[in-house]
Amino acid sequence: MILRVMKSDSEFINKLKKIKRRATPARIKMFEVINSSRSPISADKIVKAVGVNKTTVYRDLDLFLKNNFIQEADFGDGIKRFELANLKHHHHLICLRCKRVQDVSFEENLDWEEKRIKKTRKFQVVRHDLEFFGYCHNCIQS
Ligand SMILES: [Zn+2]
Ligand SMILES: [Zn+2]
Repeated sequence: MILRVMKSDSEFINKLKKIKRRATPARIKMFEVINSSRSPISADKIVKAVGVNKTTVYRDLDLFLKNNFIQEADFGDGIKRFELANLKHHHHLICLRCKRVQDVSFEENLDWEEKRIKKTRKFQVVRHDLEFFGYCHNCIQS
């Protein structure tokens, strides 16, 4: 399953240039950490991996969010997690025991449901979030 679309640092550096921001080593490292994470990653983990102070990471996360480089994933546990915003549309599988998060895309998309909602509720859907909570392969066995 290939979800990653922004593959290289240079693409990210160009995005920063467009909004007239410097490609600081911290920003590039943050992008690399988020890009290489196989699932949405928490701010704490980003701070640890990048090795700069919390304030800088939080400020840059804010910058990334505002410019739609990344998006927030909320799994209702009070932890904010982040992933690249231009990933192929997908959903998440969240293990309630080990908290592992996996990306998953559907074979069938939800276009049909969205069309039905538009027809029956006269509601124009722009986006949706859909997460699945349960137990992963490792946790279901123990
Ligand atoms: Zn969907
Ligand atoms: Zn698990």
